[in-house]
Amino acid sequence: LSEKLDKALHTLKGHGKITEVNVAETLKEVRRALLDADVNFKIAKQFTKTVQQKALGQDVLTTLNPGQLMVKLVKDELTELMGGDTVGINLGGSPTVILMSGLQGSGKTTFSGKLANFLKTKKSKNVLLVGCDIYRPAAINQLRVVGEQIGVEVYAEEGNQNPVEISLNAIKHAKANSKNVVIIDTAGRLAVDEEMMNEISNIHKAVTPQETLFVVDSMTGQDAVNTAKAFNDVLNFDGVILTKLDGDTRGGAALSIKTVVDKPIKFIGTGEKMDAIDVFHPDRMADRILGMGDVISLVERAQEQYDEDEARKLQKKIAKNQFGFDDFLNQIQQIKKMGSMKDLVGMIPGAGKAMKDVDIDDDAFKGIEAIIQSMTPVERSTPTTINASRKKRIAKGSGTSVQEVNQLMKQFDQMSKMMKMMQGGGGRKMMQMMKG
Ligand code: GDP
Ligand code: MG
Repeated sequence: LSEKLDKALHTLKGHGKITEVNVAETLKEVRRALLDADVNFKIAKQFTKTVQQKALGQDVLTTLNPGQLMVKLVKDELTELMGGDTVGINLGGSPTVILMSGLQGSGKTTFSGKLANFLKTKKSKNVLLVGCDIYRPAAINQLRVVGEQIGVEVYAEEGNQNPVEISLNAIKHAKANSKNVVIIDTAGRLAVDEEMMNEISNIHKAVTPQETLFVVDSMTGQDAVNTAKAFNDVLNFDGVILTKLDGDTRGGAALSIKTVVDKPIKFIGTGEKMDAIDVFHPDRMADRILGMGDVISLVERAQEQYDEDEARKLQKKIAKNQFGFDDFLNQIQQIKKMGSMKDLVGMIPGAGKAMKDVDIDDDAFKGIEAIIQSMTPVERSTPTTINASRKKRIAKGSGTSVQEVNQLMKQFDQMSKMMKMMQGGGGRKMMQMMKG
């Protein structure tokens, strides 16, 4: 939260009930945060009024102080306003036809490529990109470069000045070449004008797309609302794409657009590269608009990357019988991060039974770290070298007993057996389950 907002919420602490005075103070800061984030003035006002009505007289639950409750109310309301849940893309029709609309420079061509790449790699679709920006030869080239980068075919007709014809021909070409998604990239103008609207409207009528997407630069702030309205009046589009969210804009346009056209925001663009695309999460956007930053997305992405790399390394080691105490420790730390062992076991299909007699309870983790740290690197990587005298040394070094060392050795043995058993897809699955 922005510092001021945080302060305002702080003043609420200690009160048992949300009162008119402390609500007014807090909402003043909320409204300021929204305006800072470029949310339209009327919308900000309307929003705070709604929250006020919901907040007044609410009893404060024991687990939440009034400040926390206000944050929750504000966040929930904002999330709800932006669509509540994430909305996917309609992949019906054969082929699925997706039409891009929006002003010049909003990011249509870039996003067409990103979406093609996303559908190809994440949904195993055979995609055709269609270049309908007939005014600038460079635009078709740009699309070809994008297509080459992601290995997706680009359909264009140099010299043909009729985008309706090009689109229909492209769909024919797609059917003949077993493509299941056709993405039509269109020409935009710097500002809304009648010619552009007629052109996109004609394409829209001719190809009857499953998805008509409106692409908008999130940096354009207030203007975005008017543009969105103009396009929606003509196309009645299905969803919004918010690009350039990697900039420092707080993304208030998301809220304004959603309120004015009432269409879901489906994806966001977060960079110029082809993988800089994310599904839109209303709750994260709420955090961002309120100034909480989009930390969750970042952390999640880093975590995903980390887990995948680790899982791959681990699988290799298990396959080569190189699973050692260091890996064991690593696994335990992963598990600890994710909650209790027993809960976790319950979530792994088929593993519950195998793990029943392993009996690692959460307290048992405590001494483990110490024991493993008292082992030499050789002992860690090759546990079979740990004989009776070494066990004594390890127990002494870690302030435990030989019995405890023995117990750990047994647990380790069971875990490596289980790892081996679950290997070959299973191990990976388990890691994914662990991620929750
Ligand atoms: P079009 O005219 O609507 O087709 O827009 P383009 O796809 O050509 O994009 C215009 C400019 O914005 C290009 O320089 C893109 O690289 C850039 N761009 C598009 N999407 C993003 C994004 O999500 N983040 C950033 N930083 N730049 C973007
Ligand atoms: Mg373009």
